Amino acid sequence: MLFLTSSVFAVPHGFTLRTGGVSQGPMASLNLGESVGDRPGHVQENLRLLAQSARQHPEQLATVRQVHGDRVVRAAPGAAEEADALWTEEGNGVWVGVKSADCVPVLLASADGRRVAAVHSGWRGTALRVAARAVEALVAQGAATSTLRAAVGPCIQACCYEVGPDLAERFRADFGDAVVRPGGTRPHLDLSGAVRATLLAAGLLPQHVDVQAACTACDAARFFSHRRDAGVTGRHLAFIAPAPLS
Ligand SMILES: [Zn+2]
Repeated sequence: MLFLTSSVFAVPHGFTLRTGGVSQGPMASLNLGESVGDRPGHVQENLRLLAQSARQHPEQLATVRQVHGDRVVRAAPGAAEEADALWTEEGNGVWVGVKSADCVPVLLASADGRRVAAVHSGWRGTALRVAARAVEALVAQGAATSTLRAAVGPCIQACCYEVGPDLAERFRADFGDAVVRPGGTRPHLDLSGAVRATLLAAGLLPQHVDVQAACTACDAARFFSHRRDAGVTGRHLAFIAPAPLS
């Protein structure tokens, strides 16, 4: 299996696992990151396998150069602007994706599937509420907030995400007590819970927001984890495509 899906979407989408690709060693096997030390030919073949499985054209995938900010751009294949979220709409065959290995990937779609977005939300992006900026971008294109669907993908969960006390307090102040869990010596942060709170505050309905439970750091068989693997690891792709023109 190459990717997990969410029941909130009717359009093509997925959160890739680390299985089913051709990369070796710490990149084994479905690494989709181009700047993590993997062989370019392997990354290219992994993307081809993914695109085939997702029924998309590999050259039509649009991504961004992720910089832990809150900028949202309209997708353009091959452009790779500095941003952490991108959106597209039906009609041009473009699909969008963000890469992660612990950070929170978020996918969004309008109810009719005509407009979609992908968001990379690490702790910095989560603090900046980048997911809400992506919601605003879709709403500016005509999507209704109350009908938007969102899936918050596999990431490092509170079980494994130890942080310093200052960051924990900042998140408690911004997102409420529920996003900080007492740990052994240091607090643990519930990043995907903070992203969920952001999406609800932006106007999405709870029944339209799916939060996946999988923890990238806990599950070495299925996921790359930057923290667990001390930075030497592959990247997942969270991707979504608009509904084709009917
Ligand atoms: Zn965990």
